[in-house]
Amino acid sequence: MAGKICIGVVAVQGAFVEHESMFARLGAATRRVRTSEDLLGLHAITIPGGETTTLRRIAGDSGLIDGLRTARQAGVPMLGTCAGLISLADAISDGSDPIIGGLDITVRRNGYGRQIASFEAEVSVTAIGEDALVEAVFIRAPILERVGDDVVVHALYQGDPVAVSSGECLGVTFHPELTSDHRFHQWLYERAVGYANAHRTRSQEDVSVRA
Ligand code: GLN
Repeated sequence: MAGKICIGVVAVQGAFVEHESMFARLGAATRRVRTSEDLLGLHAITIPGGETTTLRRIAGDSGLIDGLRTARQAGVPMLGTCAGLISLADAISDGSDPIIGGLDITVRRNGYGRQIASFEAEVSVTAIGEDALVEAVFIRAPILERVGDDVVVHALYQGDPVAVSSGECLGVTFHPELTSDHRFHQWLYERAVGYANAHRTRSQEDVSVRA
């Protein structure tokens, strides 16, 4: 019988409690991730918003960023919201080094400027669950200046991509965990199930090869 799916929620800052509630509603267990040891055995990982400078400092010093990068390279599905998306970007327009990387995009931090730092807007989301208009909450959000050819754009706001995916990585510039829209968390949960199944199959094959 399949074990319960376990999704890691990076808990160094930001709305990790709200992310946990979203997954609880979907029936997935969560684990707070503060060190790279906390990553062991997870089927997917969420990186909440906050400040990328804080994430870089705290999670960089503890080795967590290295652990997250290794997990991503191993194909563990990931969802990043706002600063979490910035951490998944392959390029940051201020020239600072990528944090985790994995999404072939270039992001500009605080892309809407300081005067209109936070706002809500209706955006149309496609190919993430059922297509729908969602009320998106933007908080000092980044703007995507470039998306690579293999990146799928799921939503636009004022012509700029605000939800994108590539393979097992999904990045959103707004905060779905602050609304009742759980389609992004559902997306990750489904990928977590796929990852768990692939892993189980692979380890069973390993056993039979060895036997
Ligand atoms: N402005 C933040 C940054 O650049 C992101 C804000 C957020 O995650 N809500 O790191």
